[in-house]
Amino acid sequence: MTAEIKDKTIEVPPQLTVRDLATALDVSPINIIKQLMNDGIMASINQTIDFDTAAIVGEEMGFEVVPFKEPEAEETVAAKTEEMVSLRQSFIADEDPANLVLRPPVVTVLGHVDHGKTTLLDTIRHASVVKGEAGGITQHIGAYQVQVDDRLITFLDTPGHAAFTAMRARGAMLTDIVVLLVAADDGVMPQTKEAIGHARAAGVPIIVAINKIDKANANIEKVKQDLANQNLVPEDWGGDTVCVPISALNNEGIDELLDNVLLAADVAELKANPNRPAQGSVVEAKMDDKRGSTATLLVQNGALKQGDLLVVDTFYGRVRAMFDGQGQRLKKAGPSMAVSVLGLPDVPAAGDMFEVVKNKKTAEALVSQRKAAFEATRQTARRPVSLEDFLSLLEGEAVKELNLIIKVDVDGSLEPIINSLKNLGDDQHKVKIILQNTGNISESDITLALASNAIVVGFNVQVDGPASRIAETEKIEVRLYKVIYKLIEDIELALKGLYEPVYEDRVIGHATVRAIFKAGKKVVAGSYITAGKVTRDARIRVVRNRRLIHTGKIGSLRRFTEDVAEVATGYECGIGIENFNNLAEGDILEAFVVERIN
Ligand code: GDP
Repeated sequence: MTAEIKDKTIEVPPQLTVRDLATALDVSPINIIKQLMNDGIMASINQTIDFDTAAIVGEEMGFEVVPFKEPEAEETVAAKTEEMVSLRQSFIADEDPANLVLRPPVVTVLGHVDHGKTTLLDTIRHASVVKGEAGGITQHIGAYQVQVDDRLITFLDTPGHAAFTAMRARGAMLTDIVVLLVAADDGVMPQTKEAIGHARAAGVPIIVAINKIDKANANIEKVKQDLANQNLVPEDWGGDTVCVPISALNNEGIDELLDNVLLAADVAELKANPNRPAQGSVVEAKMDDKRGSTATLLVQNGALKQGDLLVVDTFYGRVRAMFDGQGQRLKKAGPSMAVSVLGLPDVPAAGDMFEVVKNKKTAEALVSQRKAAFEATRQTARRPVSLEDFLSLLEGEAVKELNLIIKVDVDGSLEPIINSLKNLGDDQHKVKIILQNTGNISESDITLALASNAIVVGFNVQVDGPASRIAETEKIEVRLYKVIYKLIEDIELALKGLYEPVYEDRVIGHATVRAIFKAGKKVVAGSYITAGKVTRDARIRVVRNRRLIHTGKIGSLRRFTEDVAEVATGYECGIGIENFNNLAEGDILEAFVVERIN
């Protein structure tokens, strides 16, 4: 195919986004996404993949993939812009190894709802949070650091997928290690599986904490079986998944869990250069009535100092003051530290990357280049999956899986929908339910859909305002139903490749023909609009003596001698109908438009 005429060897960096890889191979990102799906990896266009994954995909597509050697780091604004715009995380890729030192791991706790994420984060925080000077007031800044012996661990403490997914959807990778919480009385549940998928897709090591072992009905072995079924085979079963039994409520097993986090950090050899201007990502941000924009920034490389000039997203500002999670004012924050920063002129989004620049001139140049580059990417970005093109997207794939996020009004609606959906399809065509839940379609559902190429299906629910805005800009397909069988039918049709949109006529106006004019061979009906309106792009039904005698398109619509786009009730106009001249005085013209209703 086209690959034949391309240079077959490409260089790729240790990490790159799907979009970058597509650009490097000069193929559509959709082809890359398809190939990744084939290999069992669900990836969005902005997702970061590592060199090995890129190499496998590239080779499967007929290329030879070799590691990219960074040219001597010339810190041009353009190079930096490109790096940030492609939203990839290779903060230390161009650092001299001699400057790198170990940094604390950054940990996210994921797990099914009610399995104890909040409890665990609270317990860890209270047991071991780094003690600052007296006087600080603990505040939630989205992250905190704990001390274990003489080492530190940073926990991102917005539990659950929301933050992780939102950041991943933007290509940011803040987390080094995922602690997957599974309640011993419940086992692996849908969101547990989802969390496993996210951690795997992001290439982040997983440590399992089997929680609630204090409960009478705790069944650790069953959890291990469940985990093994997800290819997370526990160490004592001969696999390599670390499973630590804990009780977050009773502070049992927590030390062991933290020790294991540090072991995993040792294996990962997490490093950074503490002696350079800071780079990192936004953990969360808000507008505070009194303090203005406050943003929690995770320093991923370098050190952030009070007074530094920061570029975030497409604006810049100076760090007026920085605080840690205990309200202590800091002058400097090193790698893996999260700090709440005051002084930005605007509120950045979680997952935005920031960097410290030398002066205003550099900041301004970076911002304007970034704006232009964002605009360019926005225009080329395209969502790969919609119900209609689901099959064509996956054409040639052995197994076609349609990823769905299902939101319903009440629990009782879930079971019949899920059961029916599971029975759909055949060996080659399957529905994969990424998330099933009750409640309106929220922003996090949309970001999850974005991150996992899913379609969002709602039953008797609505779409929250912010969610619908993001769905629109990111072109996420959201489908709402009020009847179960209709929902099932659409998905079934999609799976069978038979899905066709249904159109319906909507009458927009009526006119009465008052006179007939001839213009050459054409006949024009001098008409009076009796109801609604007639538009130039409408279709027309001609009704005579209560019988439909013709349906066709409007060929001309004029007021006096002027072509017009529409004519409203109470006005006269001339209406010509394409390829139809048999018009007569007294005919009723019904204007309608064809609208898609599903
Ligand atoms: P999240 O939804 O994952 O954040 O879960 P929470 O931390 O809110 O916990 C859900 C419920 O489980 C709460 O009622 C907790 O008190 C309870 N819980 C959490 N950890 C434990 C535990 O180790 N043992 C017991 N018995 N209950 C726990």
